[in-house]
Amino acid sequence: MLIPIRCFSCGKVIAGSWLEYLELIKIGFSEGESLDALRMNRYCCRRMLLSHVDIIEKLLNYNLL
Ligand SMILES: [Zn+2]
Repeated sequence: MLIPIRCFSCGKVIAGSWLEYLELIKIGFSEGESLDALRMNRYCCRRMLLSHVDIIEKLLNYNLL
């Protein structure tokens, strides 16, 4: 779905880093380097970005009505 606004464990705002994270991955950074560049130092925040599966684009293909 959508990336959560805040980290579930520590409460740091992480949603603003999601698009930057995707851009860094796209230009060839590894996941670890991308998270380091975004200053995601705590492992709780790192797992939020690493484990996120963005399926909102797939869900938008279905019409409930
Ligand atoms: Zn955290």
